[in-house]
Amino acid sequence: MVSLARRIMEIEPVLLGRSSRPECRVHTHFFFCPGCNYVHCFSAKLQGYDRNAEKPTLQKEVYIPGQIALHTCRSKITGGMIRYTNDSTHHLKGETVELPIIQYGHI
Ligand SMILES: [Zn+2]
Repeated sequence: MVSLARRIMEIEPVLLGRSSRPECRVHTHFFFCPGCNYVHCFSAKLQGYDRNAEKPTLQKEVYIPGQIALHTCRSKITGGMIRYTNDSTHHLKGETVELPIIQYGHI
């Protein structure tokens, strides 16, 4: 059995159709954010995800406004690392850390 260290995972299509928030219905993938200690979902197409689950790169920043989450979180994912901008409001603002590997049963 091939074991792949995935830092980004695909959302099950059945879950997408059930989302009550229209903006979430375009989301196709998620990662676990160590700054928010929570998952962030995104559209692979809109964010320019390179489909490398082990060392992912997203061409565009991921921005989670504080109004819809506990923290404002702005990040850029490059080569499996996540860099947070200084306008993020959590403890990892301004820092770059490894994006956590997602295990089945992790969330
Ligand atoms: Zn976050």
